[in-house]
Amino acid sequence: MAFRTLNDADVEGKRVLVRVDFNVPMKERVVSDDTRLRSALPTIQDLQIRGAKVILLSHFDRPKGERVASMSLAPVAPALGKLLGSKVTFANDCVGAPAQSAIAAMGPGDVLLLENTRFHPGEQKNDPALARRMADLGDLFMLDAFSVTHRAHASTTGIAHYLPSYAGKAMARELEHLQKALGEPRHPVLAVVGGAKVSTKIDLLQNLVEEVDMLCVGGGMANTFLHALGKPVGASLCEKDLAFTANAIMAAAKTAGCQVLLPIDVVVAQKFEAGVSSRTCSLDEVGDKDMILDAGPKSVAVLKTAMDTARTVIWNGPLGAFELSPFAAATDAAALYCADLTRAGKLVSVAGGGDTVSALNKAGAADGFSFISTAGGAFLQWMEGKALPGVDVLKIK
Ligand code: AMP
Repeated sequence: MAFRTLNDADVEGKRVLVRVDFNVPMKERVVSDDTRLRSALPTIQDLQIRGAKVILLSHFDRPKGERVASMSLAPVAPALGKLLGSKVTFANDCVGAPAQSAIAAMGPGDVLLLENTRFHPGEQKNDPALARRMADLGDLFMLDAFSVTHRAHASTTGIAHYLPSYAGKAMARELEHLQKALGEPRHPVLAVVGGAKVSTKIDLLQNLVEEVDMLCVGGGMANTFLHALGKPVGASLCEKDLAFTANAIMAAAKTAGCQVLLPIDVVVAQKFEAGVSSRTCSLDEVGDKDMILDAGPKSVAVLKTAMDTARTVIWNGPLGAFELSPFAAATDAAALYCADLTRAGKLVSVAGGGDTVSALNKAGAADGFSFISTAGGAFLQWMEGKALPGVDVLKIK
């Protein structure tokens, strides 16, 4: 997958529009988690050093095409300035006179943040007229947020039709890791897919059985597979109407030569609560009132053995109700083992999507993984094998 990167661009003295994802958590209009600001720093700093005028575009929250004061990006400018150690100016519109005059006042190395792109109804509709107005503000376009690539919006893909377009550093790094995990991975590839429901991950499972050598299904969604195999699931979260789908996925896996690993023992409780009394049992010992809330130690041992043979692990979703003690045990043990194998250079591990990042952080395993994507929806769409419009516009044709 070849795409143009920041290194390919001559940026000196140029107005560079950079689409970032500054949809950051805020408390009382103050940035409370600056992870996304930090991930944009390498691109911004590189552009500053090379004498570009750096013009940042981002959405924030869901103002639905209207100006909503509480959804202004204004508080982000000082927070970013602090991290950069240089002033970040702010323009109260992402197009038109406020943006134009702020840009006219910029010198090389200056950084300007434009107001929330979603204040314009044309943003999410990918209106070419809005994209054109944004593109008119710059000489080059850089996309530096993998997390927005699943959306074809004016500021993500629209602008790319009018300007030479490149992947920023964070974007390039993410694409390289994803390519290693599912594009051109070292085999055997093991996918670990957990989480609550099969219904949200049907496309993902269908794609993975075609691409990977082993698929471990865990979490609440494994209950649907166990039910489809005729096992009792008691009062567990289970989408019984999807038994047919679960069987179809298992059949497709068989045809494709993908081994499916399901729990062989489970941890059950009668309440969905932290600290409730629980017991570990075999699949046939699940009672009518029992809820399966985690995989058991024998299942974890099977998963560890699969990891021993794997050269690549792709992970999405927890293996149990990890927020509630003690039902994080399987997720914790498997994640720590995966991190150890990664550190020892035995495999490449990539994880992301939904609650996965917090589950791996909670396990203390995140640092050991080769790469953790915070991209959510875009990460899942990539695991589904579907095109990402924001990546496609950067590909060299
Ligand atoms: P997802 O967003 O699909 O990755 O699902 C994550 C959620 O699945 C977490 O909130 C977990 O608590 C939940 N979950 C995982 N395993 C189970 C289970 N066995 N029963 C109920 N919820 C579960």
